[in-house]
Amino acid sequence: MTGVPGYWYNIAADLPQPLPPMIDPLEGESRIGRLSRILPGRLLEDENTLDRYIRIPDRVREEYMRVGRPTPLVRAEGFERTIGVGGRVRIYYKLEALLPTGSHKINTALAQAYYASLDGAREVVTETGAGQWGLAVSMAAARFGLKATVFMTRSSYHSKSSRRRLMEVLGARVYPSPSRATKTGRGFGDEHPGSLGIAIAEAVEYALEDDGRRYLPGSALEAVLIHQTVIGLEVLDQVEGEPDYMVACVGGGSNFAGFTYPMIGSMLRGEGFKSTRFIAAESSASPKLTRGEYMYDGFDSSLILPLAKMYTLGRSHVPPPLHAAGLRYHAAAPSLSLLRRLGVVEARAYSQDRVLRDAVLFSRSEGVIPAPETAHAISAVVDLVRRASPGTVIVFNMSGHGLLDTDAYGGGDG
Ligand SMILES: *Cc1c(COP(=O)(O)O)cnc(C)c1O
Repeated sequence: MTGVPGYWYNIAADLPQPLPPMIDPLEGESRIGRLSRILPGRLLEDENTLDRYIRIPDRVREEYMRVGRPTPLVRAEGFERTIGVGGRVRIYYKLEALLPTGSHKINTALAQAYYASLDGAREVVTETGAGQWGLAVSMAAARFGLKATVFMTRSSYHSKSSRRRLMEVLGARVYPSPSRATKTGRGFGDEHPGSLGIAIAEAVEYALEDDGRRYLPGSALEAVLIHQTVIGLEVLDQVEGEPDYMVACVGGGSNFAGFTYPMIGSMLRGEGFKSTRFIAAESSASPKLTRGEYMYDGFDSSLILPLAKMYTLGRSHVPPPLHAAGLRYHAAAPSLSLLRRLGVVEARAYSQDRVLRDAVLFSRSEGVIPAPETAHAISAVVDLVRRASPGTVIVFNMSGHGLLDTDAYGGGDG
C-alpha cells in the first residue's frame, strides 16, 4: 500500500511554452481583479505559481486520508474477458469512485474549503451540473464549519434530485439555476434548462455581494487541476512500468489533468513516459477539444470571470440535457487546451447512447457502475483495445460511480 503524496504537481513549471495569460474583457471593471475578491487567497496563489511542487497542507492531507486516499488502482480482468482481449491487453482503472461523494471532486473541495476557512470566510458558494461538485463542496464545507450555497443547473436539479437532497442533508442551500436569487438568473426565466456557464455567473454574483463569502470553482482553473494531481501522483506509485495509454473523460479537464499531468510532466522534462499516449474522452454534445476553436473566451456565459485562451464552443453554448451533466461545460482548462494544441494530448468524442451501452457492459463484467461521465473514458478504452497490439497496457480514471444515476441507466437493458 502506498501513502498519500505530500505535494501536488503543477504542470506550469514544465510546459514547453508559457500559458497565455488571462485577460480582461474590454468593457467594465477588471475581472482579473475580481478573482482576488471572490477566490480563497491560497487558491489564487496555487493558480499563479510556477513552482513545480506545492506542499499539501497537513490539514488537507489528513482529510485525504479520512476520505479514503490513496484510492486503489485495480485490474479490469472481467472487462478484459468480456471484450475478448483477456491476456492480450491489460486494462487498469484508478478508483476515484470510492471516495465518499462518489467522484474525484472532493480532492479539490477539501483544499478549497480549508483555504476559505484560512481567510475567515463564513460561507462558500458554487455552481454544479450533475451535482457531484455541489455535493463535494457541501461535504467539505461541513467538515470546515462553513455554510454552503449551490447553484445547480435546472435540468439536473430535477433529474438528479437525489444528489440535491444529499447536499441539503449536509446543510447546503441549493437553488435551481437560472434562479431568482440573482440578477443574472432572473434574466433567463423559469423555463430555461440552465447551463454551467449561467450557474457560474450566478454563483460569482452571489459571492460578490458579501465579503464573508468565497467562490469555489469546480474545474477549469489551473489551481483545481493542481489539486487533482493527487490522483496521478498516486498512480505513479501504483502502476508497474509505463502504460501505453492513459485515458480519462473531460468536462473542464480536472480529472483528466489530475490523472495524467504527473506523467505528462515527466514526458515534457524528457524523463519518462515518452511513448505513453494521453487520450481525452469528451461528450459529442459538448465537443470542445475535437470541434471547438482555440481562442480567448470566458469561463462563464456572462463574462463575470476573466477570459482565457482555451478550446471552446463559445461561452453561450447550451448543450441538450445530458446524463453526463459533468461534461456539458463549453471549454477545456487553459493548460489542457494548450497541450491539445501542441499535440501532447489526443481527444475523442462519444455519444450518450454509445457510452451508456459500454458502461452497462462494464458494470456487468466488473461489478462497478461507472458515472455517465466516466463512461466516455470506457468507450475510448474499448476503441483503443480494438487496434491494440499484444502486451498493450491501458490505464483509465474511474472518475466517479453511477449509483445515483439510475435515470441514466434506465432498466439496465442497454
Ligand atoms: C465533474 C465530473 C467529471 C468532469 O469534470 P472534470 O473537471 O473534467 O474532471 C467527470 N467525471 C465525474 C464523475 C465528475 O463528477
